Amino acid sequence: MAFPVQKSYSTEMSAKKSTPPRNEIEKLTERLREVTYLGTAIAVLQWDQEVTMPKKGADARAHTISLLAGLVHNKFLEVDHDGLLSGLKKKLDGGKLSPAEATVVRETWRSFSRERKLPETFVKEMAKLTSKSQNVWTEAREENNFAKFAPYLEQVVEKKREEAKLIGYADSPYDALLDTYEPGMTTSEIERIFGDLKTFLVPFLARIQKVSNNKLPHVIAKSAHFPIEKQIELSKQVAESMGYDLDAGRIDVSAHPFTTSFHPNDVRITTRYNPKDVLESIFPTMHEGGHALYEQGLPHEHFGTPLADATSLGIHESQSRLWENMVGKSLSFWKHWYPKLQKEFPGVFTAPLADFYASVNIVKPTLIRVEADEVTYNLHIIIRFELEKALIEGTIAVKDLPKLWSERYKEYLGITPKSDKEGVLQDVHWSTGYIGYFPTYTLGNLYSAQFWNTAKKQIPDLPKKIGKGDLKTLREWLRKHIHQHGKSYSAEDLALKITGEKLNPDYFSRYLEEKYTNIYKL
Ligand code: ZN
Repeated sequence: MAFPVQKSYSTEMSAKKSTPPRNEIEKLTERLREVTYLGTAIAVLQWDQEVTMPKKGADARAHTISLLAGLVHNKFLEVDHDGLLSGLKKKLDGGKLSPAEATVVRETWRSFSRERKLPETFVKEMAKLTSKSQNVWTEAREENNFAKFAPYLEQVVEKKREEAKLIGYADSPYDALLDTYEPGMTTSEIERIFGDLKTFLVPFLARIQKVSNNKLPHVIAKSAHFPIEKQIELSKQVAESMGYDLDAGRIDVSAHPFTTSFHPNDVRITTRYNPKDVLESIFPTMHEGGHALYEQGLPHEHFGTPLADATSLGIHESQSRLWENMVGKSLSFWKHWYPKLQKEFPGVFTAPLADFYASVNIVKPTLIRVEADEVTYNLHIIIRFELEKALIEGTIAVKDLPKLWSERYKEYLGITPKSDKEGVLQDVHWSTGYIGYFPTYTLGNLYSAQFWNTAKKQIPDLPKKIGKGDLKTLREWLRKHIHQHGKSYSAEDLALKITGEKLNPDYFSRYLEEKYTNIYKL
C-alpha cells in the first residue's frame, strides 16, 4: 500500500484514475503530523506535571496547557483552510479512495466536524474551568467537603450540556459526549449492555458472598517488607517479558498510574510502589503495560494520522485489562512468576501457589473503584454511568449526588460510604470534564474477555505458554489483530473481524462464572 508516506510511490500508480494525486494525501498527512507534534508538547507537559513537577507549579502549568490547547484546536481546523480536507471528503463519498486513505479522511473528517462546532472561546473557557475545578476537587477531596466542589461541578455539567448542544445529538445529550471516547456507541446501547450485566453481577456477587469460606487467605504477612529497588527491577522484568520495549519507553512513579504516548518510539508508563505490598506495583505495571503495547504497536510509518491512532478508549482498555486480569490474575501466569517472587523476597511467600492464586482473586465489595476486584469493578462503573447520564439529561441535580451515590452503593454492592471522600469525591473525571468516559472502562472489560476467548481458541496452548513465561506469543497475536490496524476499523467491526461477533457481554459473564466457580467452589 502506497499511502501515505511510503517513499516508493510510483508515477504509474499515481496515474491511476481512482487514486487522488499523491500530494493531496501527502499534504493532509503533513498537516496532521504538525498538529500531532504540537499536541505532543501538551502530553509531555502533562506527563511532567504528574511525574516530576513541584506542587506550586500547577497554576503556571494550567496556563501553558490552556494556551497550547487553543493553538492545537486552531491548527487542526486549519487543515481545511484551502478546502483540502473537504475536497478529499468528496472523494471519500464518491468511493474514490483506497481503504487506508479512506480511514484517514473519514476519521479526520469525524474529528474535524466535531471540533469546528466548538468556538475557540468555548474551548478556552472549558480548559480554564476544568483546570480550576480540578484544583478545587483536589482540595475538596482532601477536606472531605463536597459542598466546596459542588458549584464547580454544576458549572462543568452546564458546560458539557452546552457542548452536547453545539455538537448535536439525536436522542440523549449524553450521546454527544460518549461519542468522543467511544465513537459509534450510543447511550441506549450502553443502557442495554449495562442492564444485562447488572442482572448477572448482583446475584453472582451474592452467591460468592454466601459461600461460608468466602474469606480467602491473604498470603502476605502484615510485617512483610518489599524494598523499592527490588520492586522496580521486578516491574521492569514483567513489562519486558510482555514485550514492552524499554528503549522506546520508561517506567516512572505517579500517584495514579497512567500511560502516555508521544510517538510509538516514546511510550511511557507509570506505576507506584508500596513497601508493604509488591502486588500493588505489579498489577498497575501490567495494566499500563497493556496500554503501552498498543501504543508501541501502532504503525510508525503512519504517525500523526488516524492509521496510527487507537480505535477507541474501550478497545484501549481491553488491552490493559486483558494483561492485568486475564493474564496477570491467572494461575498460568503465576506458575512462572510465583517462584521468582519467592526467590526475590525470601521468607515472605510461604503459601502454596493455589492459595496465592486465590488470594490475588479475592472478591470483596469495596467503596473505592480502583481497588475493586474483577467481579465488583463494573458495578462501580454502572453507578457512575447512571449518575452522570442523569446529570447531563437534567433529571438529577449535583446537590443530590452524595445521597444518590450512597443509595446505589447500598443497592448494588451492599455497602455505604461513610464520607464523600470515599464516595462521590473519589474520582477525578467529573472535575476535568471527562463525562461520558466511565463506560469505556466496562466496555474494555467486556472486549477483553471476548478477545481472550478467541486468542485461546486460535493459540490452544496459550495458557501453557504463559505458564512457561512466554508472554510474547500473546503480544504478537494482539499486535497482528489489533495494534497494527490503528483506526482502520471501528470498535464494533474490529470485534466482528477478530471474534466473528459484535460486542457480546456473555463472554465476560462466562469468564467470571468459570473462574470464580472454581476459586470459590460455588
Ligand atoms: Zn486503563
